[in-house]
Amino acid sequence: MSSSTPSPSTSAGTHAIVYGGSMAGLMSAGVLSRHFERVTLVERDPFPNGPMQRKGVPQAQHVHGLLTRGMDILADIFPGIREELVAAGAEFLDVVSTVAAFGAGSWRRRFHSGVSAASVSRLMLEWVVRQRLQSLANVHIRDEREAVGLKTSGDRTRVTGLLLQAPGGGQEETLEAELVVDASGRGSRTPQWLEALGYPRVEETRIHVNVGYASRIYRKPPGFEPGWRSLAISPELPKQRRLGIIQGIEDNRLLVLVGGWLGEAPASADDAAFLEFARGLAQPHLYEAIKNAEPLGPIHIYRFAHNQRRHYERMPRFPEGLAVVGDAVCSFNPIYGQGMSTAALQAEALGECLRSGARGATQRYRQRAGQLLEGPWLMATAGDLAFPEVEGKRPPGFGLMNWYGNRFQQLVGYDEEAMRTFVRVQHMMEPPTAMFSPRMVLKVLTVRPDKAAQTPGPQPLAASSTRAA
Ligand SMILES: Cc1cc2nc3c(=O)[nH]c(=O)nc-3n(C[C@H](O)[C@H](O)[C@H](O)COP(=O)(O)OP(=O)(O)OC[C@H]3O[C@@H](n4cnc5c(N)ncnc54)[C@H](O)[C@@H]3O)c2cc1C
Repeated sequence: MSSSTPSPSTSAGTHAIVYGGSMAGLMSAGVLSRHFERVTLVERDPFPNGPMQRKGVPQAQHVHGLLTRGMDILADIFPGIREELVAAGAEFLDVVSTVAAFGAGSWRRRFHSGVSAASVSRLMLEWVVRQRLQSLANVHIRDEREAVGLKTSGDRTRVTGLLLQAPGGGQEETLEAELVVDASGRGSRTPQWLEALGYPRVEETRIHVNVGYASRIYRKPPGFEPGWRSLAISPELPKQRRLGIIQGIEDNRLLVLVGGWLGEAPASADDAAFLEFARGLAQPHLYEAIKNAEPLGPIHIYRFAHNQRRHYERMPRFPEGLAVVGDAVCSFNPIYGQGMSTAALQAEALGECLRSGARGATQRYRQRAGQLLEGPWLMATAGDLAFPEVEGKRPPGFGLMNWYGNRFQQLVGYDEEAMRTFVRVQHMMEPPTAMFSPRMVLKVLTVRPDKAAQTPGPQPLAASSTRAA
């Protein structure tokens, strides 16, 4: 592991504080370590000494995919992190050739796409990143400390520090800083704190999806070699709502997730309900893979009520010296796997805003954050709003976009070029407009769903594939 401190690329100030020590906070603190002499990371939980569950991140028991763009940024912040993840048991696998994916009514073609992602548990990912941050000499960790308020200048136009307390009460402490970053997740209290300081209430958009996740880890059965490393059985939206995923994770284990939209989830966290639900997926392969496998722990349930976006970019007034990152700004339906990667984009944007000078950096940042969220927000909510039951304002042209999106999914069933484009957009390597190039539009207009091979199970790796899975 590297223990060097990256030399500050700009001198934005002497001290920055990040509160919230999950993925958004860790990445933001890593970025700020290059711009401030000292960075303090404040976390309410005691940090466990290993890849172990903690209270503040209950979602860590569930499948977490870090998109390729997110991984690239993480590796820019912490050079060598890929190798450290691999040493911890992660594997970087091609997201098309190694995944058996059923979607839009057919098994997807499998070929070498050139896009790879880490197959690793969220617990291990966060642990590796946290160790890396802890190794930076100018980063100071304060766990078991809760942020309870902002300190401001007398005229309240600038945040000048953070008030802390041990969770549950006790003596308050004030830390002074030139920059305070809120990475405290969906439950962030910045909206209320700003309102109490005389600022308008930030506008918030919510789209209720009532997504349910149930996850369990299994030991990979001896001799279980199905020819894929991950399995994804996706519903045809909006006709179906149920999905299932198996992700291979470190130590030869399978992380199995079943769930769905609009209340579609196992009735309870017991064996029978979990297996019964898995049996009701559009294809039997997930059920077949786990029905006799050995569970290595309990079933974890997570209910995600709504997508939530806070429009800090629209506030007419906002204090200097404060930035909000990660789920505290925007928390997406987890099915689309965008949360950590947009947090990475925000951490990167914060660094870029600081590079052009500390003055006005946080005002520039909140505008940038608002812009960079547009694409991912559109991608996530377009899927959710396809359900007639989901309430929310449909953007102009939504019906047409939805029609196009469905036909694009049919095209992806047999057209390698479309599939490549789709995964590159999904992994944030290309903008969504790549799906609307003249070539793609022509293919979508002449789509032939009957060309998708109707195989009874996952397709074999295409002979044309240039590299092995
Ligand atoms: C079921 C589920 C599955 C998901 N799957 C994916 C996926 O596949 N891919 C993906 O990219 N994203 C996924 N996400 C989203 C992802 O988990 C988050 O986007 C990611 O953790 C970044 O969030 P965050 O760091 O902003 O906040 P969180 O992860 O919520 O962490 C907030 C942190 O702040 C701490 N905290 C809170 N209040 C205070 C306080 N007052 N003082 C100090 N500390 C405080 C908490 O203890 C916690 O450590 C999923 C989410 C869920 C719910």
